[in-house]
Amino acid sequence: MGKIQIMDEWLSNKIAAGEVVERPSSVVKELVENAIDAGSTSIEVFLEEAGLTSIQVTDNGSGMDEEDALKSFSRHATSKISKEQDLFRIRTLGFRGEALASIASVSKVLLKTSDGLHSGLEIELDGGHVVSMKPTAFRKGTDITVSQLFFNTPARLKYLKTIQTELGHSIDYMNRLALSNPEIAFKLVHNGGTLLQTNGRGNVQQVVAAIYGVQNAKKMISFSAESKDYKIHGFASLPEVTRASKNYMSIFVNGRYVKHYLVQKAIVDAYHTYLPIERYPIVVMYIEGDPYLTDVNVHPAKLQIRLSKEQELLPLVENAIRNAIRSAIHVPLAEKKE
Ligand code: ADP
Ligand code: MG
Repeated sequence: MGKIQIMDEWLSNKIAAGEVVERPSSVVKELVENAIDAGSTSIEVFLEEAGLTSIQVTDNGSGMDEEDALKSFSRHATSKISKEQDLFRIRTLGFRGEALASIASVSKVLLKTSDGLHSGLEIELDGGHVVSMKPTAFRKGTDITVSQLFFNTPARLKYLKTIQTELGHSIDYMNRLALSNPEIAFKLVHNGGTLLQTNGRGNVQQVVAAIYGVQNAKKMISFSAESKDYKIHGFASLPEVTRASKNYMSIFVNGRYVKHYLVQKAIVDAYHTYLPIERYPIVVMYIEGDPYLTDVNVHPAKLQIRLSKEQELLPLVENAIRNAIRSAIHVPLAEKKE
């Protein structure tokens, strides 16, 4: 008998959870992305103790029937890609089919869902194992509550930071998700207090105002530009509005929030000498390009991305913002026609 064994699914889920579920905000991100992929127009997130006690995400998306609801917790269960070619033209936020399995393996989950055609269903899982399943009255959509995160992985639990730090990460994700989806009404509630609320009317400036304040939103100028392979647009703050962190530059590629060092650098370069040292602008930038040019399958959290034709994109970014800033500075905002 050889020594190599195929590990059981439960164990492999727990190992994968180490990559996908780092902290409460990872759960918020994955659950909200699922709600977005399900076509929701309204998504509400309720956190207790920054999500350490519980994380509840309620959506009005497609919901699931009984078969899908049960399958959704298996590893590599996804409704989003089915063949190899799909991997190179991903439009949905999820595709790896491992978030729910990973989350469930390190927490207690209560799922309520209905596809609007069949009666609703309630499933309860404990550390990835189904402990109860029963029909329940529920409107179309999904409501998922994750509690006691990391109850069975003490090392991970110990590594978590303060409530304030963990909450900060979740707020960060919610802000980006709201910015990348202005047509969805988002609400984030922590210990009963509302931290973010957007109206879902599709107006980016209104989302910017909800996040960064009305006064700052008024000091942001729009830009847009296009090259052979890329289209970009967004809002950039006047040089008088700066922050001490690069975190206020949000870059979205085909609707997905990404961290892209070179694009950030192109943005900062565009401001050139207008920015004080160690200060950064508030920028919201949407980049659209053929999904073939982007590789999001670099890391499970999908935050990093590989872009082809950077030599075309980076000057496009830099010039678009530089032109917008220059014309805004030379023409006082009040005199500019809408
Ligand atoms: P992925 O998003 O990569 O497909 P997940 O583990 O996050 O993998 O979800 C597994 C599947 O469960 C999804 O492909 C989707 O079919 C279903 N699902 C998860 N969350 C929802 C939701 N809020 N509404 C409808 N379907 C959902
Ligand atoms: Mg997902």
